[in-house]
Amino acid sequence: TSFSELGLAEPILKALAEAGHETPTPIQAQAVPQVIAGHDLVGIAQTGTGKTAAFALPILQHLVTDRRRPERRTCRALVLSPTRELAGQILESFRNYGKHVRPSTALAIGGVPLGRQARSLMNGVDVLVATPGRLVDLMENDAVRLNEVEVFVLDEADQMLDMGFIHAIRAIVAKLPAKRRNLFFSATMPKEIEKLAAALLTDPVRVAV
Ligand code: AMP
Repeated sequence: TSFSELGLAEPILKALAEAGHETPTPIQAQAVPQVIAGHDLVGIAQTGTGKTAAFALPILQHLVTDRRRPERRTCRALVLSPTRELAGQILESFRNYGKHVRPSTALAIGGVPLGRQARSLMNGVDVLVATPGRLVDLMENDAVRLNEVEVFVLDEADQMLDMGFIHAIRAIVAKLPAKRRNLFFSATMPKEIEKLAAALLTDPVRVAV
């Protein structure tokens, strides 16, 4: 499989070529067309498999296909990550693969003043990458609203639960619109993760690598 066979637009293909990515990894080859087709996804994959691009590429494709300005204080795609470091890397991937799409982006992580992040969300963003605790803080300060989220990504779900983020995740999910796409990634699928996935997703496609 080549990236061009996955249904990605030219500006994304160009950025992939410039990043030196020649062929899709297995999770990318399986996930990207399914997500572009509109399916919810459960991806069982570890870090290092290329899972970040597996969700970043179809989100960028969605933004190219449906270009519009985000509403104030909202985001169109929301990615939840368990750690600040991983959140930063995910944002970097969106900027890298999206360098010819140029989505507006913001990072919501702890350890940075709340006011600065609130300002970065003022005009709304295409892509918000957040850790759960800080996102809840921003929601409580009315700095961000989740009612316009079109694509929701929960990355490293098993690590999220291990870190005690379940309440924050529930508070976040409660504010999402009912009609949305969901992408759910976890390295392992113990029973409680299966339960969380079943509660969040609608008729998902499963991809395991
Ligand atoms: P991840 O599993 O998302 O953390 O990605 C692991 C690493 O693989 C990152 O450094 C990516 O830049 C790299 N990568 C992702 N997809 C590809 C690809 N299709 N070809 C080559 N490298 C890739």
